[in-house]
Amino acid sequence: MPKDRIVLVDSHAHIDTSRFARDREEVIQAAVAGGVTRMVDPGCDLASSRDALALAKAHPGTIFAGVGVHPHEATTYTDEIGEQLRTLAREPEVVAIGEFGLDHFRMLSPRNVQREVFCAHLDLARKCNLPCIIHVRDAHDDVMELLRAHGRDLHMVAIYVGSFTVSLETLLRPESVSPLRVLCSPLPGHSPSRVMLYLKLPAWSRWIVS
Ligand SMILES: [Zn+2]
Repeated sequence: MPKDRIVLVDSHAHIDTSRFARDREEVIQAAVAGGVTRMVDPGCDLASSRDALALAKAHPGTIFAGVGVHPHEATTYTDEIGEQLRTLAREPEVVAIGEFGLDHFRMLSPRNVQREVFCAHLDLARKCNLPCIIHVRDAHDDVMELLRAHGRDLHMVAIYVGSFTVSLETLLRPESVSPLRVLCSPLPGHSPSRVMLYLKLPAWSRWIVS
């Protein structure tokens, strides 16, 4: 591959969702034409995890799936769903457990339920030997506490920082103490180079492509 070729990987596509019902294939093709060589489509419940896997099988080598239950849907999680997610995760197109996490901003599921389901996903990731896609919004301290307590042996953590608002310049300052930098702090046994971040602020997108 030429050195000047920019390789883009969309680590958080949600391309299975209904908002793409009308033009999903066109969006995928446009992304590929624009240089997006890989997409990871994280599931948000059992049904969307299955949809993500189906999309991955329909687009081998381009789309990959995550399987999990989003914190907004945490009350729907059961051990049976956990087992079904584990079965899905045996498919080679599944590359991560998630999207799961903690969201204390919208708090659509009780805090204690979110924590229980979070830990269940960490166990699932461990059993499946897969990295995690973690949604965290206004719950950074809790996520770090749970990762330190229960996630020390996991291979990689990908984190969506939903409430991140500081500027890129602030982030890059060594003395910066932002939620993002805190999350970037290496966990015991983790290399920072293996932490992947999901950022969806439009201003950042402009910066990245300019
Ligand atoms: Zn997401």
